[in-house]
Amino acid sequence: MSKSATQAFRTSTMAAPCDYDVIVIGAGVSGIYQIKRLVDLGVRATVLDANGDLGGTWYNNRYPGARFDSESYTYGYSFSKELLEEWHWTERFSPQPETLRYLNFVVDRLGLREHMQFGCRVEVMHFDEQTDLWHLRLGDGRTLSARVVVTGLGPLSTPTLPKIPGMSDFRGLSFHTSNWPHEPLDLTGKRVGIIGTGATAIQIIPVVAQQAAHLTVFQRRANWAAPLNNGPISAAEMASIRARYDEIFAACARSPAAFEHVPDSRRFSEVPPAERRAFWDRLYDEPGFGIWLANFAEIFIDEHANAEISAYIADRIRQRVKDPALAERLIPKDHGFGIQRLPLETNYFETYNRDNVELVDSKATPIERITPTGLCTRERTFDFDIIVYATGFDAFTGAYDRIDIRGLGGQTLRDKWADGPVTYLGMLVSGFPNMVMLGGPQTAAANFPRGSEIAVDWIVPLLTHMMNAGHTRFDAKPEAEQAWCNAVKASYQGLLMSKAQSWITGYNSNLEGHEYGHTRYNIFATGGVEYAKHLQAAAQGGYAGIAFS
Ligand code: NAP
Repeated sequence: MSKSATQAFRTSTMAAPCDYDVIVIGAGVSGIYQIKRLVDLGVRATVLDANGDLGGTWYNNRYPGARFDSESYTYGYSFSKELLEEWHWTERFSPQPETLRYLNFVVDRLGLREHMQFGCRVEVMHFDEQTDLWHLRLGDGRTLSARVVVTGLGPLSTPTLPKIPGMSDFRGLSFHTSNWPHEPLDLTGKRVGIIGTGATAIQIIPVVAQQAAHLTVFQRRANWAAPLNNGPISAAEMASIRARYDEIFAACARSPAAFEHVPDSRRFSEVPPAERRAFWDRLYDEPGFGIWLANFAEIFIDEHANAEISAYIADRIRQRVKDPALAERLIPKDHGFGIQRLPLETNYFETYNRDNVELVDSKATPIERITPTGLCTRERTFDFDIIVYATGFDAFTGAYDRIDIRGLGGQTLRDKWADGPVTYLGMLVSGFPNMVMLGGPQTAAANFPRGSEIAVDWIVPLLTHMMNAGHTRFDAKPEAEQAWCNAVKASYQGLLMSKAQSWITGYNSNLEGHEYGHTRYNIFATGGVEYAKHLQAAAQGGYAGIAFS
């Protein structure tokens, strides 16, 4: 942005003085890049984060086995050659401690820490229509004002616990996976119970099983999972990755989910069954999401194709679990492969071959009560030293619902979104001016940093546009918002995942209004490539969907 635009913005903020031109909420992956761009613009900006330090999801999720299943070198920021040159990823799929170190490295290398404030939870955020300013109240009692608020709250940052009687009676240690203790937790000799078999549990279970005396897994619905096939990255490989960075990021930009994996261009029906199996053998043994994202596109839309890949993966599970009856219990029967977000695993299925691991069917015998010493089902009692709730998140809207956000006319965002999120391009909400969301609902669910860079790179010109024109307010037009909601809804049509019991459709058994069947359109399901085109068209069209004043 030009100096004059920054000046114009200053003048507008001086008309109604405020503490900051822009407040960013959240010092995670998206907030870090956002503050970098704002600092470069020369506007007065700060990041507020409820946590004790930066990192967002990578600060919170410290459970054993936590790592992403994006290839590490597709997860780093792409905007700085220096960062790309200097950082060495040591594993193909970086574990949480390394990812947190990476984010700290970025922040320190770019001198961004001084623009961040920690331990401050935003509790209230009200828009003042007279001054076009947001007024924020923090948990520590402070109040701050800003012309613009950018929310980088994280789509999966608000944990949900089950509602089981007696939870507070337990005398051992119990916590949600995203609150795994920061200090080392020695599991040696411990009896551990894990509730849930989502992507998080699937990462924890094999690691805990190796350390604990005994592990009991409470599974309600079995979950498809496929091998991560992780490995180290040598210095020589890293050098070759560095030489390919432009190519790697260009490939991510061409793929719907912003990975190097792209759907196979052949039609499922045109490839003979034996060839399909050989193709799947290769994908299953390759690192990463290939078996999901580089597969035939038909597995996501065609029941027959989906049934065939499901049968193939079920066979692979049978080969890995020694007890045939146990293998059957680990094979999902209620949904097909890949229609929920696929967890990638390391020795997950083999873990059930261990003598110290037991799988309990908590659908047939639900947990009735947590007791001081463990829990009980209708049939049995279990004694534990530690209970781990791997029970998921209030996805996308949860973090917003927990802030008292009020826009024009005092309308609350919570009310506006009571039946599910409503947005313009997943970035703005009509009636909530000067608020922009990063990684919010109704964006494309993609490899997160890739999506974050696209979003921030859209926000900065929007702010520049507003500042250059001397405007103090921007707000999505209701008709533009409606059109985007229609596009989001349409993007689910024909996809098998539209019936999934997953955060994609807003399902969460522990939250009222999130029951199965009450679909919430949480993502733009057509994917990142089309999403980026929509953002670009909105900007090139002079932001016709946005009212400035
Ligand atoms: P999740 O996928 O929502 O799984 C929650 C699990 O808890 C499910 O198995 C669920 O069973 C069970 N559960 C919930 N309430 C229960 C109750 N009252 N009684 C018994 N079981 C209960 O949550 P998650 O595993 O934390 O994963 C969420 C998302 O985070 C993933 O989809 C992924 O996007 C992200 N994630 C990513 C990574 C990675 O990058 N590698 C790792 C972890 C998580 P039902 O299915 O029966 O409801």
